[in-house]
Amino acid sequence: MGLATLPVVHDGIDDAQEFLCARCAKRQETCCQHTDIVLTDGDIERVSAHIGRRDFIEFRSAGKPEYLDQDDDPLWRDATFQPDGTRRVVKHHENGDCTFLGPVGCTLPYETRPLICRLYPFDYTEAGVAEELATGCPRHLLPEGVGLADALAMNRTDAERWHGQLYSELRSDLAARQAGAYQ
Ligand code: SF4
Ligand code: SF4
Repeated sequence: MGLATLPVVHDGIDDAQEFLCARCAKRQETCCQHTDIVLTDGDIERVSAHIGRRDFIEFRSAGKPEYLDQDDDPLWRDATFQPDGTRRVVKHHENGDCTFLGPVGCTLPYETRPLICRLYPFDYTEAGVAEELATGCPRHLLPEGVGLADALAMNRTDAERWHGQLYSELRSDLAARQAGAYQ
């Protein structure tokens, strides 16, 4: 999620050269607000090792109807949904902001962020990373001739690496849950 990489904020200035996530944050709800950030065991270990606590986790029902439509990705569905329909996610503040969202973006280093944050706006299932990017980013704010991935300083090679790590961790989480060890 690009908000974590906000380099500059020019308050009140509509600067077309400004990083896309900064422009996004001035105009719309971003991917760090009212979003369910599902956590793998690996995410929890990496984040808790960095911040020294584990109080950023909660179990919550899917916050958006589309989160329930996972038939094209049964591993994701089975590894992330609990029998009661909740999922293990990052806590929100009352206003819907992610608990790690600070005034200039994510407060976690990039390689510590939950894997699904690092992957956004790449879209994917277990089968792989999709050609098309997700639709939540404000493409109308892109500088002329610049693609979304380039504007966010993201690339497919990293996305495929994180995708492989994510699904490897989901398989481990599912196995742990089936063995009764999932928390
Ligand atoms: S929705 Fe897209 S442009 Fe907006 S903060 Fe997230 S990654 Fe950046
Ligand atoms: S962990 Fe960071 S990148 Fe992910 S939703 Fe929270 S603030 Fe955004």
